[in-house]
Amino acid sequence: MRCILCEKLNFKGICDKCLKKLLQEERHVRILEGGLKVYSFFNYNSILPILFTKHHFWGHRILKEIASHTFKKFAQNFEFSEKVAAVAIDDKPSGGYSHTAILTHALRSASIVPVYGALRAKNPVKYSGQTYEFRRKNPRGFVLLPKVRNFKYAILIDDVVTSGFTLKEAKESLEKEGIDTLFALVLADAKDN
Ligand SMILES: [Zn+2]
Repeated sequence: MRCILCEKLNFKGICDKCLKKLLQEERHVRILEGGLKVYSFFNYNSILPILFTKHHFWGHRILKEIASHTFKKFAQNFEFSEKVAAVAIDDKPSGGYSHTAILTHALRSASIVPVYGALRAKNPVKYSGQTYEFRRKNPRGFVLLPKVRNFKYAILIDDVVTSGFTLKEAKESLEKEGIDTLFALVLADAKDN
């Protein structure tokens, strides 16, 4: 097989040189309307080929490798006074595997507990390529899994943030149940795309 980014022969799916280059990218933070901070690790265009591997069995492996250098490291340095739930945006796999479930799993630590399937979208609307206005008029309508109510604090996880509308809606859904979202963690920020 070949490196997903440079196409040189490689058995891991991503070569050390490309991985190193990717990991040198500067982290970003975006503050959404309403105050939610969204931390991202990569530029959208750098990570795009990896996100597109969703339906290939080895895409899972590459994403796990990347999560171990980003989300996992983040969790190892994160301390909080009580247990925090790691909640993914709709981690139901469509086809291959769930990006967000892999990222959420990588956050497991002394302070962070992954809660899978905690937020389910009632409305299966696809936001890709849609305007902010469309998103606003067609909210996902999140339903919370009861066990997430055992937590007072949460971290939201998604693979990509675009308008930030979904994250904002998820934060509000948690808020209604008395759960405070500390921040959101995503692989990439696609704001300028
Ligand atoms: Zn490469």
